[in-house]
Amino acid sequence: METLINGLHHVTTLAGDTQRNVDYYTDILGLRLVKKTVNFDAPDVYHLYYGNETGSPGTILTFFPYGNLPRGRKGVGQLTYTAFSVAVNSLRFWMDRLHERNISYAGPYKRFDESYLRFDDFDGMGIELVFTNDDSRTGWSNGHIPVEFAVRGFHTVTLNQQNPDRTIQLLTENLQHTLVGEEEGRFRFKAGIGGSGNYVDVLHSPNDVRALQGAGSVHHVAFSTNSDETQLLIQQQLTESGYQVTPVQDRNYFNSIYFREPGGILFEVATNPPGFTVDEPISDLGKSLKLPAQYESRRAKIETELPEIMLK
Ligand code: ZN
Repeated sequence: METLINGLHHVTTLAGDTQRNVDYYTDILGLRLVKKTVNFDAPDVYHLYYGNETGSPGTILTFFPYGNLPRGRKGVGQLTYTAFSVAVNSLRFWMDRLHERNISYAGPYKRFDESYLRFDDFDGMGIELVFTNDDSRTGWSNGHIPVEFAVRGFHTVTLNQQNPDRTIQLLTENLQHTLVGEEEGRFRFKAGIGGSGNYVDVLHSPNDVRALQGAGSVHHVAFSTNSDETQLLIQQQLTESGYQVTPVQDRNYFNSIYFREPGGILFEVATNPPGFTVDEPISDLGKSLKLPAQYESRRAKIETELPEIMLK
């Protein structure tokens, strides 16, 4: 069988204040700001991409910081926790770091034999750090987090579902995921070669409230595919299975298709190429505002209206 889905590509979330978001992800968690652009559908709002040095698929967390957006609420029909992978021997480092920054966390807990910490960002986005040695990726060092303790990219995303069966069917029959474990109503699936960055957990949450979208809510999760050809194959197969899939959208750094899974979460399939070095070199990623061609003529106005961003 041809590999159509490799694992996770990116997670995109709604945020409140821009600078607080930048500080949280670049300073506290130590990710690299790899792209500063705008929401292609609403260019008065930033689209910020954080990841490892190059923004590899499976490391990319992106935000639309809307400023004064009311907080969302976690619940069913939502991606509630995005887990990042860090080294087993960094547990003490991260507990100390979160404590020093006055970020209250829960844990360490154990899940599928790995320890994890759980906390929320300033807007209420659910974050986990999973301590694992099952990851050969190198994290980005922001200069004050030693590279051996740095975040290496995603580990898992958790999808809360009232009735998980049809979501599970979609993952296994259309998106090439296989079940690798089950623990307390949590069904873990892997795609591609598995390991960190290639896991999806479907959590059976029959008693949870319905999620409300707002600041801190994940807007969608994207899965990685190798090429435009594999993307078109997935699009065709999903359409044949009855899903309403969008036409291919050019997102400059990847091409995308979107559809809603049966539990209500927006899914995307994004191509790995061309990636973030398509419009600036690796050394300069994230340093200047990049606009898609259709907004270049409006650059001066867009730049004045967007808040300034300071990197620590
Ligand atoms: Zn996306």
